[in-house]
Amino acid sequence: MTLTEKLLARAAGKTSVQAGDNIWAKADVLMTHDVCGPGTIGVFKREFGKTAKVWDKNRVVIIPDHYIFTADSLSNRNVDILRDFACEQGLPYFYDVIDDPKGHWVFDASKGNMKRQYGSNYAGVCHTALPAKGHTRPGEVLFGTDSHTCMAGAFNQFATGIGNTDAGFVMGTGRLLIKVPETMRFRLEGKLQPGVMAKDIILHVIGEIGFDGATYRAMQFDGPGIASLSMDDRMTIANMAIEAGGKNAIFEFDARTAEYVEARTRLNGTIQKYDPVFADKNQSFVYDLTLNLDLLEPTVACHPDPGQRKKAKELSNIKLDRAYVGSCTGGKTSDFVEFARVLRGRRVVIDTFGVPATPEIVRDLQSTRWGDKTIWQILEDAGVRMTENAGCSACLGGPVDTFGRMNQAGLKCISATNRNFPGRMGHKESQVFLASPATVAASAITGNVTDPREYFTN
Ligand code: SF4
Repeated sequence: MTLTEKLLARAAGKTSVQAGDNIWAKADVLMTHDVCGPGTIGVFKREFGKTAKVWDKNRVVIIPDHYIFTADSLSNRNVDILRDFACEQGLPYFYDVIDDPKGHWVFDASKGNMKRQYGSNYAGVCHTALPAKGHTRPGEVLFGTDSHTCMAGAFNQFATGIGNTDAGFVMGTGRLLIKVPETMRFRLEGKLQPGVMAKDIILHVIGEIGFDGATYRAMQFDGPGIASLSMDDRMTIANMAIEAGGKNAIFEFDARTAEYVEARTRLNGTIQKYDPVFADKNQSFVYDLTLNLDLLEPTVACHPDPGQRKKAKELSNIKLDRAYVGSCTGGKTSDFVEFARVLRGRRVVIDTFGVPATPEIVRDLQSTRWGDKTIWQILEDAGVRMTENAGCSACLGGPVDTFGRMNQAGLKCISATNRNFPGRMGHKESQVFLASPATVAASAITGNVTDPREYFTN
């Protein structure tokens, strides 16, 4: 069996499964957020009753993160609905925007959108926060009401996005009927060269198979090239499985996975026991691609979909209006480190926005010093508009007052985010070019799409 088949067999209480089998999978964690949480709660109450209790309060994790720093009152109200539910159910893992359990969330537009407006429990973007808060363990099943839930596959999990109806059912029963996906294998060999990042790996892979090339399939990443990839790198890759239509992504378990998971579960007092899955000798794949990381070059997905692959060096004629680094995919500490490595001592020539994925990343960037400056200061000195209000922000457009949103037709943005279908970051006639944080930085310096490798020569 493949990694995904082994994991799902265990979740179904069976000795084996094969692709195409329909199984009842036991959930280890259900995650929801401010956009889908209210709908999920509505389904749960309608189907299980107004006074029903969730199947396991320690396994429901609620993370408001999407439409948070906006004066849109309906968006603010969604956070209040989550708070009321968490209070009613006694949920220990609700990462509220404010500290008052009886309060109401209201964004104060008069304070602007750069200075921190959240309390001490706020966790930021759900997919980055889940592992950081110790909710991600190898060998487990994670269902989440968000398509990029697949990011947790970096941790040797079966993690997939589900709709509100399914999530309402999981909330009540802890189980879900799913079909075992076929597995596509991506075997990584070699090592990334300076200026080339994990984002380039996944953009290359999606370009190879197309934005629907993995529809309802597991994307398994293994091989000797995995060892050199950090957990942040693996998260970037797994996150974008859905951009090829993948049901899930999954990585092999190794010492790096163990180190991250054990540190984070210990730090947060969450469940520490876990049981990874390992590959069988005989695995059956519907597709098998070997990728030599040494040969990979900075890659861009052009408007209007993540499969429109080009090398960055082929796009120097594309003039840009703005640059954006942020999101679950591209707003981690390591992403900002590479971004700052290129921008240090230089200036951007187009509007450039930086949105850390979580408050912890804000703290990392504001406390890590390179010489006499923090990374945060280096980015601000380069002209990047850095916000402390960690969250999804303009990755998915959001209400019109969202930080970094593309509100005008015709704007072209190079972005470290994960999705570029028309209208994704705002105006439906704007264009998004997906790239690594290093490529975004190099492009922000020149104003055109730029291969970042020349900035990594010394
Ligand atoms: S940062 Fe973007 S991709 Fe990630 S969860 Fe938020 S909206 Fe979705």
